[in-house]
Amino acid sequence: MSVLLFAENSNGKFKKAVLEAAGYASELAGKMGVELHAVSIGDVANDELSSLGTYGVSKVHTITDAALNTFSDQGYTRAIAEVAKAVGAKSVIMAQSYNGKSVAPRVAVRLDAAMVSAAGTNPAIEGDSLVFQRSVNSGKGLETVKTHRANSVITVKVNSFGLKENATTAAIEAFDFQSQDSDFGAKSLEVVKTASKISITEADIVLSGGRGFKGPENWHLLEKIADQVGAGTACSKPVADMDWRPHHEHVGQTGIQIAPNLYIAIGISGAIQHLAGVNSSKNIVVINKDPEAPFFKIADFGIVGDLFDVLPKISAAIEKVKAAHA
Ligand code: FAD
Repeated sequence: MSVLLFAENSNGKFKKAVLEAAGYASELAGKMGVELHAVSIGDVANDELSSLGTYGVSKVHTITDAALNTFSDQGYTRAIAEVAKAVGAKSVIMAQSYNGKSVAPRVAVRLDAAMVSAAGTNPAIEGDSLVFQRSVNSGKGLETVKTHRANSVITVKVNSFGLKENATTAAIEAFDFQSQDSDFGAKSLEVVKTASKISITEADIVLSGGRGFKGPENWHLLEKIADQVGAGTACSKPVADMDWRPHHEHVGQTGIQIAPNLYIAIGISGAIQHLAGVNSSKNIVVINKDPEAPFFKIADFGIVGDLFDVLPKISAAIEKVKAAHA
């Protein structure tokens, strides 16, 4: 028996969301009194595979079928389910990433397992059941979910559990799995990167702009600070609708939901639909010229001021601090 982590890689590296899911899986395996194993699919160097040991993984099963170097939801589903069966997985854990969201329910069907998405805390164990609490309705409610299967598939909400180490040594073992034509109902032909350098679902800091910017020509003010502090960039819905910014930056009820350590909202009013995507952020800073802007009600810190005046000052201050510490 074990808990199995799907250790998804991105160009041969495990992102923070996967390491977070590993810590989550390790805690769950501890509660269940079983080992934590992981499955890695595609080309990943041994050093990187071994690094999973830091988060409690005692064995990594590797599948290196070249056809699976590019993500395939059907192929990955079959591969993960095969490993889960082989290691007697009580729970299969993965990050709530795009790929995780795609394969988790499929794996659950294959394993006849309960499926719980977007878990932020570890469940209580009641016999064969797991009892979860998770936030729903854009953070306005707390739901209790109980599983009714002997096994489960769980996706872990990104940036909600934190990185928790539980160091052990991870053995690496090849798993015999061959992909088949039927694993590729749809095949990725090419990936062209269009997103900002830092993914906003993974970023520690996100700078976000709204209609207060007046037009796309002013975004350099936000981008400059984002570059200075290594932040991801996001925007409100109307900004994406007007094509001032690309749609993948749109956060909110109808956009991406994020939970960075620091969310800085600039020239955004704070409509309920916007807040739905960002109210799990650990710290919120609002910059708005209207002191009555609704966003100030949920802000940890606020600056009432004109962004065209405030942003260059922030940028200059960061420059000064960096120079002093160079
Ligand atoms: P505005 O509401 O126009 O606010 C601009 C703000 O900038 C104002 O507060 C103003 O005081 C400030 N400002 C102006 N000039 C300056 C300046 N020089 N310096 C500083 N501050 C300045 N919205 C989302 O963002 N995400 C969603 O997912 C989403 N989903 C929706 C779903 C539905 C079904 C509906 C009906 C709406 C949805 N919306 C969503 C839209 C949402 O209701 C708001 O209309 C939108 O969030 C407003 O965007 P904004 O704050 O950029 O613009």
